[in-house]
Amino acid sequence: MRRTVAVVGGGCSGVLVTRELLRSGEEDHVVLIEPGELGGGVAYGNAQPWHLLNSRAGAMSADPDDPSHFVRWSGAAPAEFRPRREYGRYLREVFDEAVAAHPGRVDVRRTRASRIEPTADGGTVTLDDGAVVRADHIVLAVGGPVTAKQPFGHEHYIDDPWVPGVLEALPTDRPVLLVGTGLTAVDVALTLTADDRRTAPVVAISRRGMLPLTHTVDAAPPAEPDLDDCATLRDVVRAVRSAAGEAVDWRPIVDGMRPYLDKLWTALTREEQEAFLRHLARTWECHRHRMAPVVAARVMALREAGLLEIRRGGVPAWPGLANYAAVVNCAGPGKLPGSAGPLVGDLLDEGLVRLSPHDLGLDIDPAGRLVAADGRVHERLWLIGPLRRGAQWETTAVPEIRAQAHRLAADLRPRPALAGVA
Ligand SMILES: Cc1cc2nc3c(=O)[nH]c(=O)nc-3n(C[C@H](O)[C@H](O)[C@H](O)COP(=O)(O)OP(=O)(O)OC[C@H]3O[C@@H](n4cnc5c(N)ncnc54)[C@H](O)[C@@H]3O)c2cc1C
Repeated sequence: MRRTVAVVGGGCSGVLVTRELLRSGEEDHVVLIEPGELGGGVAYGNAQPWHLLNSRAGAMSADPDDPSHFVRWSGAAPAEFRPRREYGRYLREVFDEAVAAHPGRVDVRRTRASRIEPTADGGTVTLDDGAVVRADHIVLAVGGPVTAKQPFGHEHYIDDPWVPGVLEALPTDRPVLLVGTGLTAVDVALTLTADDRRTAPVVAISRRGMLPLTHTVDAAPPAEPDLDDCATLRDVVRAVRSAAGEAVDWRPIVDGMRPYLDKLWTALTREEQEAFLRHLARTWECHRHRMAPVVAARVMALREAGLLEIRRGGVPAWPGLANYAAVVNCAGPGKLPGSAGPLVGDLLDEGLVRLSPHDLGLDIDPAGRLVAADGRVHERLWLIGPLRRGAQWETTAVPEIRAQAHRLAADLRPRPALAGVA
């Protein structure tokens, strides 16, 4: 029997899981619900030409069975860092090709989902336009938590720097304060200084004042540190520091840990996870999510020209804050439930899903099925992408998302009945 799978959200995760469902060998019908541009999302939707991928082209294939797919499509060298906007185009083309190869199997609804009601045999998704989609399986692909709002009492507070035009409208002769010094702050600083008209500095501030580190121009193959004898977080940190200290360059060691990060994260005790989040996560993220060399060179030039200042500490109190034309929220993802959108917020309120450890996302079983507040696993309600954080660690980048999409489509295949079992 032909089943219907509803995919809620058509960013990178929604596009990749739809593609995998189409090619999984089943004849499932997919209803993809996305109000915006397919394959866009926060990462690839509103990116400007100076916003580059922070991964090399060779890592960005949409196809787990064909690692060079993006390299061939873009004509890039595997070690290159391509524009994020181009990657959005790539995802749309990959999607269009998959749809064309499976005519009549995908229905795209250009609206938001406002409510999900899981049932024993699937569930329903109610759309903003009033339509109700009945599905045998529902995949939640709505992206990650939003950043926590913290206006600091400034009259010109920009909560979402990705809204088109908000940064370009700021005066160039007054300083702008960015709260956060991670990759979002770097993106925002590049936009605020893109046309060389800026005369007043962009000031980025965070508790530690740490910028992301930089990729090398040439790629080096990942090198796994030896973690066999590690029983605790302390052991892991010691082993990694020692391997990185002995290596010619620390980057291959960091990259070599990537396939093991989920296993390491889930093997930690709650207390160790908490300690990691409090003391090490920011440093880890700076090493793990690095700037492309071209971007790092631009950041350095801006700092040398006095147009970008990186500061360590808290946001200044009023009246110091009045010196800034605007305060821009560049903090990372917030915690749930505060940073959940209305759809996920309602699911949480109704006890249909529950928070993952440390409130970083939503709880799932090892296959990605959502878990209700009472611990029951929903057989037909799935999660893909950044909201898996907490239950997993490494769940935001394309290589992990394409692997999740592949496995999810495989797990959705009906299992053959066992011979002799009634
Ligand atoms: C700035 C930035 C740069 C990045 N660069 C890289 C990189 O270089 N390499 C890499 O590997 N990874 C990178 N990533 C990480 C990764 O690619 C993203 O995390 C990934 O795009 C997540 O995709 P997603 O579809 O899960 O979420 P999103 O991209 O956030 O998409 C979610 C989609 O769901 C839709 N949606 C939300 N709510 C609803 C609703 N109620 N109904 C219907 N639709 C809804 C939204 O409109 C959106 O399109 C980057 C991430 C960011 C933010």
